Amino acid sequence: MMKKTLPIDGKFQLLELPYGLGELDPVISEKTLEFHYGKHLAAYVNNLNAAVAGTEWEGRALEDIVVSAAEGGIFNNAGQILNHNLYFGQFRPPCDESEPAGELAQAIAKQFGEFEDFMDLFEKAGASLFGSGWVWLSTDDKGRLEIMQCRNADNPLRHGQTPLLTMDVWEHAYYLDYQNRRPDHLKALWQLIDWNVINQRYLDRR
Ligand code: MN
Repeated sequence: MMKKTLPIDGKFQLLELPYGLGELDPVISEKTLEFHYGKHLAAYVNNLNAAVAGTEWEGRALEDIVVSAAEGGIFNNAGQILNHNLYFGQFRPPCDESEPAGELAQAIAKQFGEFEDFMDLFEKAGASLFGSGWVWLSTDDKGRLEIMQCRNADNPLRHGQTPLLTMDVWEHAYYLDYQNRRPDHLKALWQLIDWNVINQRYLDRR
């Protein structure tokens, strides 16, 4: 099962990054991270903490809110926190592109063929998502993979799937560094993916 994120002393906390703000440069600049992590994600955390106070959602796990809350402010902020935690939690400083291993590598090969073909399909799904949203690699409980386009704050958990890998296609994720060149940004992001994290999320799906 995916690990649940509970509030601490009644408050959801801003994710601690496993790298420094300047360490993803030049794929994601320090300036983009200052805004994307330090302003956008921090605002979602503050907004959700304020919004759940005194409601049925107070004290509940983030993942439960994402699965069950009605469309609206509580869901939007919870979804954006979970999405960004998965996004920022899957990176490490840029290096040569690594590849998935073990069970996940076999599932990707079975579903998509060559790893390069999978990357191409994933980038195309991200580039063609109209407006703001997220592109995901997700799995069902049997390990069957899917590339999923989600709008706004949506997450595969809401569709009975476990999220594994994601790229944020909201303009705030790339506009300072890439302006309108979303496809170039998506292509560059592979250099940051820590496949050890994704492999583990795949194994933890059950
Ligand atoms: Mn974002």
